[in-house]
Amino acid sequence: MSSLLLTGGRVIDPANQIDGPADMLIRDGKIAAVGLDVAQQASGDVERMDVSGLVVCPGLIDLHVHLREPGQSAKETIATGTQAAARGGFTSVVCMPNTSPAIDNPGTVALIRDKAERDGVVNVFVTGAITKGIAGEELAPIGSLKQAGVVAITDDGHCVQNNELMRRALEYAKMFDLPVMDHCQDYSLVSDGVMHEGYWSTTLGLRGWPAAGEDMIVARNILLAELTKAHVHCQHLSTARSVELIRAAKKRGVTISAEACPHHFTLTDAAIAGSEKFWNADGGGVFGASAAGCAMPSWPVYDTNFKMNPPLRSARDREAILEGLTDGTIEILCSDHAPHCDFEKEVEFDYAPFGITGLEAELPLSLMQLYHAKRLSLNDIIAKFTVGPARLLRLAKGTLSAGADADVTVFDPDADWVYRRQDSVSKSKNSPFDGWRFKGRAVTTIVGGKVVWREEMSSERVQLAALNH
Ligand SMILES: [Zn+2]
Repeated sequence: MSSLLLTGGRVIDPANQIDGPADMLIRDGKIAAVGLDVAQQASGDVERMDVSGLVVCPGLIDLHVHLREPGQSAKETIATGTQAAARGGFTSVVCMPNTSPAIDNPGTVALIRDKAERDGVVNVFVTGAITKGIAGEELAPIGSLKQAGVVAITDDGHCVQNNELMRRALEYAKMFDLPVMDHCQDYSLVSDGVMHEGYWSTTLGLRGWPAAGEDMIVARNILLAELTKAHVHCQHLSTARSVELIRAAKKRGVTISAEACPHHFTLTDAAIAGSEKFWNADGGGVFGASAAGCAMPSWPVYDTNFKMNPPLRSARDREAILEGLTDGTIEILCSDHAPHCDFEKEVEFDYAPFGITGLEAELPLSLMQLYHAKRLSLNDIIAKFTVGPARLLRLAKGTLSAGADADVTVFDPDADWVYRRQDSVSKSKNSPFDGWRFKGRAVTTIVGGKVVWREEMSSERVQLAALNH
């Protein structure tokens, strides 16, 4: 019987409305007890971990991650992607089906679940495609996908353009009690754009795509959710109008939800014009008052690490996303972790693939923009990383109730540190946040009662790496 006792922490468990000092006893991979007197229940041989001054919460869930297996293991693997998750404080990730081949059949779902069982250091939940080959033409076998264990369907990276097909997908998904997640993008409006259409796309001479390209499909999804009563989840919201549309639809009781990613509520399209332009135009307040006198991170103009899909939008859009998170319109935080090799990103802006890594940066950025900026409490932020995704995908996760899986994240909301791309354990390093001063950091990640990452382990690894060179 293995047991672990976390002592002296501040336990925040939104699922049980707990926020206060407490110890936590983990036994045989499950939460045994949380409270002030649980140390007495621990046996003599219990392993103790002092977590004084730290926050202890249910293991964080990232429901939007690209693990790139099968088919693109040069970018990331299940092993490296889940290590990055553990290091970022995540005990569960949900992987997207735009792999090669796509996850559009039960065989591929089984393959990933097997591989995750072997190589994964955190829980991996799988999504299936809406359409075969994510081609947007013919429905994937949604019932068989559900039977194989997918937690949702999505064509992420693409968007089903045919409204009739989307309607049928929603009807099937409802039959099988699966939420449909959608990357909202109208192709006829977006065309071959590479960044947000606005002042900066004009100034930089890059092809833009308008915010309306997202708004159009969010509106479509609201209408189809009303028609079919299926649950539609809009992925990585980036525009002010889409937040407004979702807010109004939720008020009417439409079965719709949304998520937001830290890059969309931290950066703006001015970042593509280089660091100086960004800090002058839209960067004020990103680091709060504490950064006064500190050198700001810098990057060149046309840096492809700022190219993502949906793109970085205007300052007005960024504020609207923050507002949507603050008022509860957006219930879920996630990274859209999208690793790409250096050689793929080191090309002209037009030719670079969309996407950035995110698992190791999302907790600090969320803490900075929401908690340190005094927009949300720690409890509210943790809820968007735990009960929010667990409820949407009906996962038996995101809680510290006695008997639940002992998936636990321990983090220091005030840790001051600098994010360096070379320290990332993801196989890819395409992050725009290289050299950024972060506030807040995961310290220990526990999955099923097992410590899969803790800060000391990383310094050991750094030392080992140094010895090996
Ligand atoms: Zn997407």
